[in-house]
Amino acid sequence: MTLANGLTYLAIPGPSVMPERVLQAMHRAAPNIYEGELVDMVPGLITRLKSVARTKHHGAIYIVNGHGTWEAALANTINPGERVLVLATGAFAHGWADMARSLGIDVDILDFGTRATFDHDAIDTRLRASDAHSFKAVLAVHTDTSTGIRNDIAGLRKTIDAAGHPALLMADCMASLGCDRFEMDAWGVDVMVAGSQKGLMTPPGMGFVFFNDKADAARDGMKRVSGYWDWRPRTHPDVFYQYFAGTAPTHHLYGLNEALLMIEDETLDGVWARHATLSDAIWAAFDHWGTGGQIEINAENRAIRSHSVTALLVHSDKATALRNWCQTKTGLTLGIGLGMAKADAPEWHHFFRLGHMGHVNAQMILGALATIEAGLNAVDIPHAAGGVMKAADVIAAKA
Ligand SMILES: *Cc1c(COP(=O)(O)O)cnc(C)c1O
Repeated sequence: MTLANGLTYLAIPGPSVMPERVLQAMHRAAPNIYEGELVDMVPGLITRLKSVARTKHHGAIYIVNGHGTWEAALANTINPGERVLVLATGAFAHGWADMARSLGIDVDILDFGTRATFDHDAIDTRLRASDAHSFKAVLAVHTDTSTGIRNDIAGLRKTIDAAGHPALLMADCMASLGCDRFEMDAWGVDVMVAGSQKGLMTPPGMGFVFFNDKADAARDGMKRVSGYWDWRPRTHPDVFYQYFAGTAPTHHLYGLNEALLMIEDETLDGVWARHATLSDAIWAAFDHWGTGGQIEINAENRAIRSHSVTALLVHSDKATALRNWCQTKTGLTLGIGLGMAKADAPEWHHFFRLGHMGHVNAQMILGALATIEAGLNAVDIPHAAGGVMKAADVIAAKA
Protein backbone atom coordinates (compact mmCIF):
# COMPACT_ATOMS: atom_id res chain seq x y z
CA MET A 1 0.00 0.00 0.00
CA THR A 2 1.09 3.57 -0.51
CA LEU A 3 0.61 6.37 1.98
CA ALA A 4 2.24 8.96 -0.26
CA ASN A 5 -0.78 11.01 -1.28
CA GLY A 6 -0.82 14.33 0.55
CA LEU A 7 1.68 17.13 0.97
CA THR A 8 5.06 15.81 -0.20
CA TYR A 9 8.54 16.89 0.96
CA LEU A 10 11.25 17.11 -1.69
CA ALA A 11 14.21 16.66 0.66
CA ILE A 12 16.92 16.72 -2.01
CA PRO A 13 19.65 19.34 -1.64
CA GLY A 14 18.33 21.58 -4.37
CA PRO A 15 16.06 22.54 -5.87
CA SER A 16 14.53 23.06 -2.45
CA VAL A 17 10.92 23.30 -1.27
CA MET A 18 9.19 26.36 -2.71
CA PRO A 19 7.01 28.35 -0.30
CA GLU A 20 3.37 28.89 -1.28
CA ARG A 21 4.03 32.64 -0.97
CA VAL A 22 6.79 32.42 -3.61
CA LEU A 23 4.60 30.38 -5.95
CA GLN A 24 1.72 32.81 -5.56
CA ALA A 25 3.98 35.80 -6.18
CA MET A 26 5.05 34.25 -9.48
CA HIS A 27 1.51 33.49 -10.61
CA ARG A 28 0.76 36.64 -12.59
CA ALA A 29 0.57 38.01 -16.09
CA ALA A 30 3.77 38.97 -17.91
CA PRO A 31 4.97 42.37 -16.70
CA ASN A 32 6.25 45.21 -18.86
CA ILE A 33 10.06 45.12 -18.97
CA TYR A 34 10.44 48.71 -20.20
CA GLU A 35 8.84 50.62 -17.34
CA GLY A 36 6.71 50.15 -14.28
CA GLU A 37 6.72 47.89 -11.24
CA LEU A 38 9.29 45.29 -12.29
CA VAL A 39 11.78 47.87 -13.55
CA ASP A 40 11.39 49.83 -10.32
CA MET A 41 11.83 46.73 -8.18
CA VAL A 42 15.19 45.45 -9.47
CA PRO A 43 17.70 47.93 -7.96
CA GLY A 44 16.24 47.38 -4.48
CA LEU A 45 16.21 43.63 -5.03
CA ILE A 46 19.95 43.67 -5.69
CA THR A 47 20.56 45.76 -2.55
CA ARG A 48 18.54 43.25 -0.50
CA LEU A 49 20.40 40.31 -2.06
CA LYS A 50 23.66 41.98 -1.06
CA SER A 51 22.44 42.17 2.54
CA VAL A 52 21.80 38.43 2.52
CA ALA A 53 25.35 37.97 1.16
CA ARG A 54 26.61 40.41 3.81
CA THR A 55 28.39 42.59 1.29
CA LYS A 56 28.32 46.30 0.52
CA HIS A 57 30.06 45.80 -2.82
CA HIS A 58 28.65 44.64 -6.16
CA GLY A 59 25.99 42.08 -7.08
CA ALA A 60 25.16 40.82 -10.58
CA ILE A 61 22.23 38.58 -11.54
CA TYR A 62 22.58 36.12 -14.43
CA ILE A 63 19.88 33.94 -15.97
CA VAL A 64 21.83 30.75 -15.23
CA ASN A 65 22.08 27.87 -12.78
CA GLY A 66 25.04 27.43 -10.44
CA HIS A 67 27.33 26.20 -13.20
CA GLY A 68 26.73 29.48 -15.03
CA THR A 69 27.91 31.50 -12.03
CA TRP A 70 31.13 29.45 -11.92
CA GLU A 71 31.80 30.56 -15.48
CA ALA A 72 30.69 34.16 -14.84
CA ALA A 73 33.07 34.57 -11.89
CA LEU A 74 36.04 33.19 -13.84
CA ALA A 75 35.21 34.96 -17.11
CA ASN A 76 35.61 38.34 -15.39
CA THR A 77 38.81 37.63 -13.50
CA ILE A 78 41.03 34.86 -14.91
CA ASN A 79 42.52 34.80 -18.42
CA PRO A 80 43.12 31.55 -20.29
CA GLY A 81 46.61 30.35 -19.38
CA GLU A 82 46.49 31.89 -15.90
CA ARG A 83 46.41 29.73 -12.79
CA VAL A 84 44.03 29.06 -9.92
CA LEU A 85 44.22 26.85 -6.85
CA VAL A 86 41.08 24.82 -6.11
CA LEU A 87 40.48 23.41 -2.62
CA ALA A 88 38.35 20.27 -2.85
CA THR A 89 36.18 18.64 -0.19
CA GLY A 90 33.70 17.08 -2.58
CA ALA A 91 32.33 16.91 -6.10
CA PHE A 92 31.33 20.56 -6.48
CA ALA A 93 34.89 21.85 -6.09
CA HIS A 94 35.92 19.43 -8.85
CA GLY A 95 33.03 20.75 -10.95
CA TRP A 96 34.29 24.31 -10.56
CA ALA A 97 37.82 23.11 -11.42
CA ASP A 98 36.49 21.42 -14.58
CA MET A 99 34.72 24.64 -15.55
CA ALA A 100 37.98 26.56 -15.11
CA ARG A 101 39.91 24.03 -17.24
CA SER A 102 37.29 24.24 -19.97
CA LEU A 103 37.94 28.00 -20.08
CA GLY A 104 41.65 27.33 -20.69
CA ILE A 105 42.64 28.15 -17.11
CA ASP A 106 45.49 26.22 -15.53
CA VAL A 107 44.13 24.42 -12.44
CA ASP A 108 45.95 23.06 -9.40
CA ILE A 109 43.86 21.08 -6.92
CA LEU A 110 44.50 20.44 -3.23
CA ASP A 111 42.16 17.53 -2.57
CA PHE A 112 41.16 16.85 1.03
CA GLY A 113 38.99 13.86 0.14
CA THR A 114 35.30 13.45 0.85
CA ARG A 115 35.26 13.25 4.65
CA ALA A 116 37.51 16.09 5.81
CA THR A 117 37.63 19.85 5.66
CA PHE A 118 40.57 22.07 4.63
CA ASP A 119 43.97 21.41 6.13
CA HIS A 120 45.14 24.98 6.62
CA ASP A 121 48.77 23.92 7.12
CA ALA A 122 48.74 22.17 3.75
CA ILE A 123 47.19 25.26 2.13
CA ASP A 124 49.83 27.46 3.77
CA THR A 125 52.62 25.21 2.46
CA ARG A 126 51.12 25.21 -1.05
CA LEU A 127 50.77 29.01 -1.10
CA ARG A 128 54.39 29.48 0.01
CA ALA A 129 55.85 27.10 -2.60
CA SER A 130 58.17 28.68 -5.14
CA ASP A 131 55.68 28.29 -8.01
CA ALA A 132 52.71 29.62 -6.03
CA HIS A 133 53.05 33.29 -6.94
CA SER A 134 51.19 32.62 -10.19
CA PHE A 135 47.90 31.62 -8.53
CA LYS A 136 45.49 34.44 -9.36
CA ALA A 137 42.69 33.02 -7.24
CA VAL A 138 41.90 30.41 -4.63
CA LEU A 139 38.55 28.72 -5.34
CA ALA A 140 36.72 27.27 -2.34
CA VAL A 141 33.27 25.78 -1.81
CA HIS A 142 31.66 26.85 1.47
CA THR A 143 29.29 23.88 1.82
CA ASP A 144 30.04 21.03 -0.55
CA THR A 145 26.61 19.58 -1.22
CA SER A 146 27.97 16.16 -2.18
CA THR A 147 29.72 15.54 1.15
CA GLY A 148 27.78 17.80 3.51
CA ILE A 149 31.07 19.33 4.62
CA ARG A 150 31.17 23.01 5.50
CA ASN A 151 34.55 24.68 5.19
CA ASP A 152 35.97 27.57 7.20
CA ILE A 153 36.08 30.41 4.69
CA ALA A 154 37.03 33.08 7.27
CA GLY A 155 39.94 30.89 8.34
CA LEU A 156 40.95 30.41 4.72
CA ARG A 157 41.27 34.18 4.28
CA LYS A 158 43.54 34.26 7.34
CA THR A 159 45.66 31.45 5.88
CA ILE A 160 46.00 33.25 2.54
CA ASP A 161 46.93 36.52 4.28
CA ALA A 162 49.37 34.84 6.63
CA ALA A 163 51.15 33.36 3.62
CA GLY A 164 51.31 36.88 2.18
CA HIS A 165 49.60 35.66 -0.99
CA PRO A 166 47.73 38.20 -3.16
CA ALA A 167 45.26 35.73 -4.73
CA LEU A 168 41.58 36.53 -4.95
CA LEU A 169 39.45 34.42 -2.63
CA MET A 170 36.39 33.07 -4.44
CA ALA A 171 33.67 31.18 -2.57
CA ASP A 172 30.83 29.02 -3.86
CA CYS A 173 27.90 29.54 -1.47
CA MET A 174 25.31 27.87 -3.67
CA ALA A 175 24.24 25.48 -0.91
CA SER A 176 24.88 27.70 2.10
CA LEU A 177 23.52 31.17 1.30
CA GLY A 178 20.41 31.74 3.40
CA CYS A 179 21.17 28.62 5.49
CA ASP A 180 24.59 28.87 7.14
CA ARG A 181 26.25 32.00 8.48
CA PHE A 182 28.27 33.63 5.73
CA GLU A 183 29.83 37.11 5.94
CA MET A 184 31.31 38.08 2.59
CA ASP A 185 32.92 41.39 3.57
CA ALA A 186 33.83 40.56 7.16
CA TRP A 187 35.46 37.32 6.07
CA GLY A 188 37.39 38.97 3.24
CA VAL A 189 35.82 37.09 0.34
CA ASP A 190 36.47 38.79 -3.02
CA VAL A 191 33.98 36.89 -5.20
CA MET A 192 30.98 34.85 -4.07
CA VAL A 193 28.61 32.85 -6.26
CA ALA A 194 25.17 31.52 -5.37
CA GLY A 195 21.90 30.49 -6.98
CA SER A 196 18.18 30.98 -6.52
CA GLN A 197 17.13 27.38 -5.95
CA LYS A 198 18.51 26.40 -2.58
CA GLY A 199 18.42 28.61 0.52
CA LEU A 200 16.69 31.33 -1.49
CA MET A 201 13.61 29.15 -2.11
CA THR A 202 13.06 30.27 -5.73
CA PRO A 203 13.12 28.06 -8.85
CA PRO A 204 16.47 27.31 -10.53
CA GLY A 205 17.30 29.83 -13.23
CA MET A 206 18.91 32.80 -11.51
CA GLY A 207 22.58 32.90 -10.53
CA PHE A 208 24.21 35.58 -8.38
CA VAL A 209 27.78 36.81 -8.51
CA PHE A 210 28.94 39.18 -5.76
CA PHE A 211 32.35 40.83 -6.06
CA ASN A 212 34.40 43.57 -4.44
CA ASP A 213 36.65 46.24 -5.94
CA LYS A 214 39.75 44.04 -5.80
CA ALA A 215 37.95 41.48 -7.99
CA ASP A 216 36.65 44.25 -10.23
CA ALA A 217 40.25 45.43 -10.71
CA ALA A 218 41.06 41.94 -12.03
CA ARG A 219 38.34 42.55 -14.62
CA ASP A 220 40.57 45.35 -16.03
CA GLY A 221 43.31 42.81 -16.69
CA MET A 222 41.11 40.58 -18.85
CA LYS A 223 42.06 40.27 -22.52
CA ARG A 224 38.40 39.85 -23.43
CA VAL A 225 35.13 39.34 -21.61
CA SER A 226 32.04 38.53 -23.66
CA GLY A 227 29.21 41.02 -23.56
CA TYR A 228 27.07 38.35 -21.97
CA TRP A 229 29.37 37.40 -19.06
CA ASP A 230 30.69 40.93 -18.38
CA TRP A 231 29.65 41.92 -14.87
CA ARG A 232 30.21 45.67 -15.43
CA PRO A 233 27.03 46.53 -17.39
CA ARG A 234 25.05 44.25 -15.08
CA THR A 235 26.18 46.22 -12.04
CA HIS A 236 26.29 49.67 -13.66
CA PRO A 237 23.55 49.58 -16.31
CA ASP A 238 22.67 52.63 -18.39
CA VAL A 239 19.50 50.94 -19.60
CA PHE A 240 17.36 48.42 -17.68
CA TYR A 241 17.96 45.48 -20.02
CA GLN A 242 21.69 45.61 -19.21
CA TYR A 243 21.03 44.21 -15.73
CA PHE A 244 20.39 40.90 -17.50
CA ALA A 245 22.05 41.40 -20.90
CA GLY A 246 18.55 41.00 -22.34
CA THR A 247 15.07 40.23 -21.11
CA ALA A 248 14.73 40.14 -17.35
CA PRO A 249 13.83 36.81 -15.66
CA THR A 250 10.47 38.38 -14.89
CA HIS A 251 8.68 35.77 -12.79
CA HIS A 252 11.81 34.60 -11.01
CA LEU A 253 12.29 38.18 -9.83
CA TYR A 254 8.81 38.26 -8.30
CA GLY A 255 9.50 34.95 -6.62
CA LEU A 256 12.85 36.15 -5.31
CA ASN A 257 11.28 39.35 -4.01
CA GLU A 258 8.81 37.32 -1.97
CA ALA A 259 11.54 34.93 -0.71
CA LEU A 260 13.62 37.90 0.42
CA LEU A 261 10.58 39.34 2.22
CA MET A 262 10.25 36.04 4.07
CA ILE A 263 13.93 36.10 5.05
CA GLU A 264 13.64 39.74 6.12
CA ASP A 265 10.55 38.97 8.24
CA GLU A 266 12.40 36.14 10.01
CA THR A 267 15.74 38.03 10.01
CA LEU A 268 18.87 36.43 8.63
CA ASP A 269 20.04 35.56 12.15
CA GLY A 270 16.71 33.82 12.69
CA VAL A 271 17.09 31.90 9.43
CA TRP A 272 20.59 30.77 10.42
CA ALA A 273 19.43 29.77 13.92
CA ARG A 274 16.51 27.76 12.51
CA HIS A 275 18.81 25.85 10.17
CA ALA A 276 21.31 25.24 12.99
CA THR A 277 18.67 23.87 15.39
CA LEU A 278 17.00 21.68 12.76
CA SER A 279 20.46 20.34 11.92
CA ASP A 280 21.05 19.51 15.59
CA ALA A 281 17.85 17.49 15.56
CA ILE A 282 18.86 15.67 12.37
CA TRP A 283 22.32 14.84 13.75
CA ALA A 284 20.81 13.60 17.02
CA ALA A 285 18.66 11.13 15.09
CA PHE A 286 21.36 9.85 12.73
CA ASP A 287 24.06 9.71 15.42
CA HIS A 288 21.67 7.60 17.53
CA TRP A 289 20.62 5.29 14.70
CA GLY A 290 24.31 4.83 13.94
CA THR A 291 25.32 3.86 17.49
CA GLY A 292 26.28 0.40 16.22
CA GLY A 293 28.15 1.86 13.24
CA GLN A 294 25.69 0.73 10.53
CA ILE A 295 24.76 4.21 9.39
CA GLU A 296 26.95 7.31 9.57
CA ILE A 297 26.87 11.01 8.87
CA ASN A 298 29.63 11.53 6.31
CA ALA A 299 31.08 14.49 8.23
CA GLU A 300 32.05 12.92 11.53
CA ASN A 301 33.08 16.18 13.20
CA ARG A 302 30.03 18.31 14.09
CA ALA A 303 32.01 21.51 13.58
CA ILE A 304 32.31 20.85 9.84
CA ARG A 305 28.74 19.68 9.26
CA SER A 306 26.60 21.78 6.94
CA HIS A 307 23.30 23.20 8.22
CA SER A 308 21.61 22.73 4.84
CA VAL A 309 22.44 19.20 3.69
CA THR A 310 23.45 15.99 5.46
CA ALA A 311 25.25 13.27 3.51
CA LEU A 312 24.82 9.75 4.89
CA LEU A 313 26.52 6.46 4.35
CA VAL A 314 25.01 3.10 5.11
CA HIS A 315 27.12 -0.01 5.65
CA SER A 316 24.85 -2.15 3.54
CA ASP A 317 23.69 -1.68 -0.03
CA LYS A 318 20.19 -0.56 0.95
CA ALA A 319 20.32 3.23 0.74
CA THR A 320 18.62 3.15 -2.67
CA ALA A 321 15.92 0.85 -1.27
CA LEU A 322 15.41 3.28 1.60
CA ARG A 323 15.05 6.24 -0.79
CA ASN A 324 12.62 4.31 -2.97
CA TRP A 325 10.58 3.20 0.03
CA CYS A 326 10.33 6.73 1.43
CA GLN A 327 9.32 8.18 -1.91
CA THR A 328 6.77 5.63 -3.07
CA LYS A 329 5.27 4.73 0.31
CA THR A 330 5.33 8.06 2.14
CA GLY A 331 5.86 11.07 -0.14
CA LEU A 332 9.33 11.93 1.20
CA THR A 333 11.98 12.26 -1.54
CA LEU A 334 15.55 11.85 -0.30
CA GLY A 335 18.62 12.82 -2.34
CA ILE A 336 20.92 10.37 -4.10
CA GLY A 337 24.54 10.13 -3.00
CA LEU A 338 26.71 12.32 -5.22
CA GLY A 339 30.42 12.04 -5.94
CA MET A 340 30.89 9.08 -3.60
CA ALA A 341 30.59 6.15 -6.04
CA LYS A 342 29.87 5.57 -9.71
CA ALA A 343 26.20 5.05 -10.53
CA ASP A 344 26.88 1.53 -11.86
CA ALA A 345 29.04 0.45 -8.89
CA PRO A 346 27.61 -1.59 -6.01
CA GLU A 347 28.82 1.16 -3.61
CA TRP A 348 26.34 3.57 -5.22
CA HIS A 349 23.66 2.00 -3.03
CA HIS A 350 25.50 2.92 0.18
CA PHE A 351 24.88 6.67 0.01
CA PHE A 352 22.02 9.13 0.31
CA ARG A 353 21.50 12.75 1.34
CA LEU A 354 18.90 14.70 3.24
CA GLY A 355 18.34 18.26 2.04
CA HIS A 356 17.19 20.64 4.79
CA MET A 357 17.68 24.03 3.17
CA GLY A 358 15.35 26.98 2.86
CA HIS A 359 11.66 26.51 3.53
CA VAL A 360 11.87 23.79 6.19
CA ASN A 361 10.56 23.77 9.73
CA ALA A 362 10.53 21.50 12.75
CA GLN A 363 7.41 19.53 11.84
CA MET A 364 8.82 18.79 8.37
CA ILE A 365 12.12 17.61 9.82
CA LEU A 366 10.51 15.50 12.56
CA GLY A 367 8.19 14.04 9.93
CA ALA A 368 11.10 13.26 7.63
CA LEU A 369 13.11 11.67 10.43
CA ALA A 370 10.17 9.55 11.61
CA THR A 371 9.67 8.49 8.00
CA ILE A 372 13.34 7.55 7.69
CA GLU A 373 13.12 5.49 10.89
CA ALA A 374 10.09 3.69 9.48
CA GLY A 375 12.05 3.13 6.27
CA LEU A 376 15.10 1.77 8.10
CA ASN A 377 12.76 -0.80 9.64
CA ALA A 378 10.90 -1.52 6.41
CA VAL A 379 13.96 -2.15 4.24
CA ASP A 380 15.87 -3.74 7.11
CA ILE A 381 18.85 -1.47 7.60
CA PRO A 382 20.34 -2.25 11.02
CA HIS A 383 20.15 0.72 13.40
CA ALA A 384 19.57 1.61 17.03
CA ALA A 385 15.83 2.27 17.41
CA GLY A 386 14.63 5.59 18.77
CA GLY A 387 16.54 8.23 16.79
CA VAL A 388 13.33 10.18 16.26
CA MET A 389 12.94 10.59 20.03
CA LYS A 390 16.45 12.04 20.21
CA ALA A 391 15.51 14.57 17.54
CA ALA A 392 12.25 15.36 19.34
CA ASP A 393 14.22 16.00 22.53
CA VAL A 394 16.38 18.55 20.68
CA ILE A 395 13.33 20.33 19.30
CA ALA A 396 11.58 20.30 22.68
CA ALA A 397 14.64 21.68 24.43
CA LYS A 398 15.55 24.35 21.89
CA ALA A 399 12.29 25.59 20.36
C1 LIG B 1 23.88 23.04 -6.43
C2 LIG B 1 25.31 23.45 -6.37
C3 LIG B 1 26.03 23.86 -7.50
C4 LIG B 1 25.53 23.75 -8.89
O1 LIG B 1 24.37 24.37 -9.13
P1 LIG B 1 23.57 24.02 -10.48
O2 LIG B 1 22.42 24.93 -10.36
O3 LIG B 1 23.21 22.58 -10.39
O4 LIG B 1 24.45 24.32 -11.63
C5 LIG B 1 27.32 24.31 -7.32
N1 LIG B 1 27.90 24.30 -6.12
C6 LIG B 1 27.25 23.89 -5.02
C7 LIG B 1 27.96 23.90 -3.71
C8 LIG B 1 25.94 23.44 -5.12
O5 LIG B 1 25.31 23.00 -4.02
